[in-house]
Amino acid sequence: MIDLSHRVSIVTGGGRGIGRTIALRLAEQGATVVVNDLAGSADAPKVVEEIEAKGRQAAFIPGDISVAEEASAVVERAVSTFGKVDILVNNAGITRDNLAIRMSDQDWDRVLSINLKGAFYCSRAVLRHMIRQRWGRLISIASIVGIVGNAGQANYAASKGGLIAMTKTLAQEVASRGVTANAVAPGFIETEMTQKLSPNVQEGLLKRIPLGYFGSVEDVANAVAFLASEEARYITGHVLNVNGGMAMI
Ligand code: NAP
Repeated sequence: MIDLSHRVSIVTGGGRGIGRTIALRLAEQGATVVVNDLAGSADAPKVVEEIEAKGRQAAFIPGDISVAEEASAVVERAVSTFGKVDILVNNAGITRDNLAIRMSDQDWDRVLSINLKGAFYCSRAVLRHMIRQRWGRLISIASIVGIVGNAGQANYAASKGGLIAMTKTLAQEVASRGVTANAVAPGFIETEMTQKLSPNVQEGLLKRIPLGYFGSVEDVANAVAFLASEEARYITGHVLNVNGGMAMI
């Protein structure tokens, strides 16, 4: 049984999708959860209510993590509200897909800013506290396409590949301080995004997945909960694939 009681966590982009499920899952394991999302998010306060209904502590701390000052303010507010941060889940991420020859500078920059720079800003801010307390878990939600690439997603694949390289680097920098850094690389997960794909595309994708079905948001949250736990203390710099066998790398 994973026990995260006495742990304080931050989940970026925790208002909906995979982030919401991770936030709920960490709370179920006992953690206090800071749900970060963009200011004005109608979803994030609902996640906080759901967590409080489970008898756990939670707070919505808004902030655009792609802005260094806002990312750092989220971390500082989390520390001043709950006294510390033990677990950071870099989950916030977006896509702006197009073939490279048609991709605008803006779409390249926006995806890199949120998916990669945002994760760096949050990690840098939180590491100061984790190093001091000599315990911490950095968990970044990457993607299978950050390893194998995907036509139409040069910006997204680059951001996720960068996230994996950053994870391995941070893991080396902070290992001696009791802090681990790992990534979770989901394959195709059943979300609003995958539900919008045509039946033909879905069928084609399913043929490429040995287990024969799309993953669920819970599958990703389970991997995160494990990496956040004491049981995962000897795992660092690792990329945990949650992809139904779609790529065995
Ligand atoms: P999602 O449903 O679009 O949720 C993303 C969340 O991040 C939203 O709540 C969004 O807020 C928030 N967000 C966006 N920009 C932000 C910013 N600058 N600062 C703070 N929060 C921000 O995405 P998802 O499908 O759950 O994906 C979550 C993560 O898993 C992403 O990193 C994604 O790349 C990764 N992933 C997903 C899949 C998949 O199949 N879905 C597969 C592999 C990897 P708003 O609601 O205001 O937009």
